[in-house]
Amino acid sequence: MRATLIYGAGDVRVEDVPDPVLREPTDAVVRVPRSCICGSDLWPYAAREHTEHGDRMGHEFLGVVEDVGSEVSGLKAGDVVVAPFVWSDGTCEFCREGLQTSCRHGGQWGAPGVDGGQGEAVRVPQAQGTLVKLPVGEDSALLASLLTLSDVFCTGHHAAVTAGVGPRTTVTVIGDGAVGLSAVLAAKRLGAERIILMGHHKDRTDLGREFGATEVVPARGDEGIARVRELTGGDGTHAVLECVGLEAAIVTAFGVVRDGGVVSRVGAPQYVNVRMDAALFMRNVTLTGGVAPARAYIEELLPDVLDGAVEPGRVFDRTVGLQDVPDGYRAMAAREALKVLIRP
Ligand SMILES: [Zn+2]
Repeated sequence: MRATLIYGAGDVRVEDVPDPVLREPTDAVVRVPRSCICGSDLWPYAAREHTEHGDRMGHEFLGVVEDVGSEVSGLKAGDVVVAPFVWSDGTCEFCREGLQTSCRHGGQWGAPGVDGGQGEAVRVPQAQGTLVKLPVGEDSALLASLLTLSDVFCTGHHAAVTAGVGPRTTVTVIGDGAVGLSAVLAAKRLGAERIILMGHHKDRTDLGREFGATEVVPARGDEGIARVRELTGGDGTHAVLECVGLEAAIVTAFGVVRDGGVVSRVGAPQYVNVRMDAALFMRNVTLTGGVAPARAYIEELLPDVLDGAVEPGRVFDRTVGLQDVPDGYRAMAAREALKVLIRP
């Protein structure tokens, strides 16, 4: 089959790889009708050291079940499924706590010996714990929105939930990428009446307004912090959802959070040193967030996607075939595309 590999910064190729087969009785093999490129795929695309062998890419995909191992129940050939962006057994104590990203028997797509999602098919380890059956056919018009349950919509929801967003919460979302826009949608869904979106790409912040942002602040740094404070009577907002991962974004988050408020970070951190000084201590700011256990949220978010109450798939603004995945990376890295859908 064909699949996507990265050989180093700027070097993504689509090549022949072995067809996936069942190796463990807990495996399934799925054909991939849709996958996509994640903002976090752009970090290795920007900076990965060159390798001779290449690494498999892609951690967001829908599947159509082709074969299941003898210990997998509840799934059969032909089922349409969504895979969260890590795989997990669903039975260990972390999984039962809803922290499938810490599963004792789980792991990441594209790790050595594990397929990536940006290919024609995938061997799914721990299939029963990992995959969620979707009540749609593979010709459903909802596939794009359902695909966001593998990562971005669940990640935005994780930011909002861990920050305690509810009807009386004021919210700032930092970042107008797919996760930031998903966080706006999730905060709106949880009842937030005021959502300030910090982002400077107008086409993206326009979609953010449609998703529920009540104000947009294009300014960054100290100017952006001052603007959010001006909008909030000088105080900042109760919740801040940091959806970028750069040091400037987390510094901004601490700048716009209200005393006693919560900063939730879901942007994959690209920083190591951030000030946690006495001034921040005196303000009783809570820092939370982290990698989103998408698997924990899929059943909760699925009904609203199925009935059209939310349309998180609107973050996809370009579709490519598998052969054109390298150009999809280029377009996202160049900020020509917000998020690229792949139809293998
Ligand atoms: Zn587990």
